[in-house]
Amino acid sequence: MKLTWESLTLELRTTFRIAHGADDRRYNVLARLAEGLGEAAAVTYHGETQTGIMEYLARVADELGNCADPFLLENILDRLPLGSQAARAALDLALHDVWGKRLGQPLYRLLGLDPTRLPLTSFTIAMDEPAMMAQRAQEAGLPIIKVKVGGANDEAMVAAIRNATNAKLRVDANAGWTRAQAAAMIPRLAQYDLELIEQPLPVGDIEGLRWLRAQKFGLPIFADEPVKTARDVAAHAGAVDGVVVKLMKTGGIREALRAIHTARAHEMQVMLSCMVESSVGVTAAAHLAPLCDYADLDGPLLIRNDRFAGVQYEGARMILPAGAGLGVTEK
Ligand code: MG
Repeated sequence: MKLTWESLTLELRTTFRIAHGADDRRYNVLARLAEGLGEAAAVTYHGETQTGIMEYLARVADELGNCADPFLLENILDRLPLGSQAARAALDLALHDVWGKRLGQPLYRLLGLDPTRLPLTSFTIAMDEPAMMAQRAQEAGLPIIKVKVGGANDEAMVAAIRNATNAKLRVDANAGWTRAQAAAMIPRLAQYDLELIEQPLPVGDIEGLRWLRAQKFGLPIFADEPVKTARDVAAHAGAVDGVVVKLMKTGGIREALRAIHTARAHEMQVMLSCMVESSVGVTAAAHLAPLCDYADLDGPLLIRNDRFAGVQYEGARMILPAGAGLGVTEK
């Protein structure tokens, strides 16, 4: 199978400011393996760069070139060397796309999943002046908003958005608080009728999450950044109410399925989410959404230059494409 790749620069509709930093553009990578499409998101706070992703793909191109049977997914993915999880995700996505295309079936059907059972997706409002964030939430007119916090102005931002909309609100601190800040902020923010809170504490502080959860603030706590693989899900059992699964953290669909099932085994809830990604990466994730409680798959809504068409949005409702494999087409 021939592997090629190219840069995929994504222009954000508004500056994407979160506790990790701010961007107007993201530099992802598009991979093509035989007739399959995959995407790798270069998220710097996960140690991913466009150059690193491309170097990884160059390193494995010959071996994949010698590999003729795309149905040996487990063998092929097992043999990939450790390295960029995002690059591995791009290859995993492309292999699943080839799998479905050669069998003439959409991925959700191969996985035995019901395309009418996708949770509604949230829409993300990045950090900005509270009045601006409130205006964006109002203009979006969508039923579920994810508010990025973890700065100096958190309560004012959440209060402004709460005043502007009746939407369900989820809050994501992106590891931006200390234990003391989180213990002070969570009960204050809980007054604004929030659905859940993501990653209040720095990566690695599992005991801190367990301690926060034991305070019973009445707000479910989800772990995101530190939870990459099924093993990380298990390590957070009992410390959080749920986990955030993203294909770019798991290294693709295979490990995402293992992570989701591991969460279920530990009676944890699952939010399926994405990075800033085009319709290639987000559509792949959407095929798994029927397995999850919450969806945060708004990548294509955040960018202005999506070169691909896949999952469609009717407000917050996602409609999976009926085409074979990922069902993604180039515009
Ligand atoms: Mg998050």
